[in-house]
Amino acid sequence: MSSAIDVRGLHKSYGDKRVLDGIDLNVAEGTIFSLLGPNGAGKTTAVQILSTLVTADAGEIRVAGNDLHQDPEAVRASIGVTGQFSAVDGLLTGRENLIMMADLYHLGRQEGRRRADELLEQFDLVEAGQKLAMTYSGGMKRRLDLAMTLVGSPRIIFLDEPTTGLDPRSRHSMWQLIRELVATGVTVFLTTQYLEEADQLADRIAVLDHGRLVAQGAPDELKRLVPGGHIRLRFTSPEEFALAGQVLPTAVPNQDALVLQVPNDGSVHSLRALLARIDDASLDVDELTVHTPDLDDVFFAVTGQPTTSDDEKVTSR
Ligand code: ADP
Repeated sequence: MSSAIDVRGLHKSYGDKRVLDGIDLNVAEGTIFSLLGPNGAGKTTAVQILSTLVTADAGEIRVAGNDLHQDPEAVRASIGVTGQFSAVDGLLTGRENLIMMADLYHLGRQEGRRRADELLEQFDLVEAGQKLAMTYSGGMKRRLDLAMTLVGSPRIIFLDEPTTGLDPRSRHSMWQLIRELVATGVTVFLTTQYLEEADQLADRIAVLDHGRLVAQGAPDELKRLVPGGHIRLRFTSPEEFALAGQVLPTAVPNQDALVLQVPNDGSVHSLRALLARIDDASLDVDELTVHTPDLDDVFFAVTGQPTTSDDEKVTSR
């Protein structure tokens, strides 16, 4: 698969402060990549650099096959950016906002209107399209903002915290729209503070902390990095449970429930090893379940800070 974004050795400082301290990352075409990190980690700066708004101090960066340093125009032509601060003009209707974007892209009068109506349909804003954008709910505004980003049919879209502050229903509809976009072959570079968002959407996640990538991988790979994963074995008889306890001395027993928790990273290899031990001892297991830690555990393990609750995040902005 070819790369939509390829970054080697990206550095950026503001004064004495190193905001990005040697970042390497690769995003495959047609996938969702999530840059996850606490406030101040450098996520927005990374998006600003990759979308040509801010220059890097050092690093080799290719976006949509173009060298960002040598050919920023070509990069700009292939990307769309939806920032935390919406480009929506409240004094125009949704449709007028889209047509304004179409004019910026020189789509031509007829094609601009056609594209605007197509996007209103796609983003479930047909009725709202006739109303002033300042009357829109937060979720509708974000949808319009994303629709405006798509007017120029970009191949790569940067979404900087696209659902911060949205209610759960609007957040889910945004996720659905993002999935549909990717199904059409678009690549999405998403920044978020919400672990669940990265877990739901991303093919790959990179965790940024103090300007460095402290972990990178598929959501499931990251979850396997942290302790806390285990296999839960349930038995039907106390005798079998006691025998299993001897065969698996590292397991944590729960006598009342006849359950053993065996520490395990959830990989196929370690699961197979456990099954072999169960087989060798002819243990009669009633039920076996695999428990992988969630991304909150990963986040804590790699950044040393717990994630803040949704409420705190909303009010802190
Ligand atoms: P995030 O998006 O992860 O919250 P940012 O990229 O916005 O992080 O910021 C990372 C750090 O860089 C912060 O400490 C911020 O204060 C600093 N920073 C960002 N932009 C500038 C700027 N234009 N001038 C000086 N410092 C900046």
